[in-house]
Amino acid sequence: MKYYIFFGPPGAGKGTHAKAVTAAYNYKHISTGALLRAEIAAGTELGKEADALISKGNLVPDSMVEAMIANVFENEKEAEGFILDGFPRTLAQAEDLDKILADRGEEVSAVVSIMISDQLVMERILHRASIEGRADDASPEIVSNRIATYHAQTEPLIAYYKAQGKYHEVDGASPVLEENRDRVLAKMAELK
Ligand code: ADP
Repeated sequence: MKYYIFFGPPGAGKGTHAKAVTAAYNYKHISTGALLRAEIAAGTELGKEADALISKGNLVPDSMVEAMIANVFENEKEAEGFILDGFPRTLAQAEDLDKILADRGEEVSAVVSIMISDQLVMERILHRASIEGRADDASPEIVSNRIATYHAQTEPLIAYYKAQGKYHEVDGASPVLEENRDRVLAKMAELK
């Protein structure tokens, strides 16, 4: 089983490009953000706890997303691999993922890091707010906090995966979506 991590700041295009990859390969796309938004929409206790954090641009507890991820791994029987989009997002999550996979006799296959600047993150997310209507996209203050959270808590994962020889970068900054997508698809073909 392949376990690919799509890495990058909010708005880098992880979800969009993950969908293009799953259209081309028999991999399952797991977005922890989408799983959390489904809990919020369903009005569950977990959803309420998550909403209070997400709406401020903060991360939810590691244990919350790890339980969701373990559950998806457990129940997926058809796919040949997974595209993890938005997970891991902290060093603790990365270490716990390694343990979860080691218990299954598996490991992370590769990390594909989609590179864009902070300024582009802000522009893209405020634009996306008008299309998708996500509450955490709507205000520049919340987006700024998400960018700061990314630098403080998620960026250290780059060194973690570089040390494992699993880290690959792709430029995601073209204004032409298809160009970014094709670079991601080319990288996936190379990593297969
Ligand atoms: P984006 O990549 O645009 O930030 P996501 O859908 O990946 O969007 O995540 C939305 C929000 O969900 C995050 O800002 C965070 O609050 C929460 N979230 C998603 N994944 C995780 C995770 N692995 N750990 C903690 N919080 C998460």
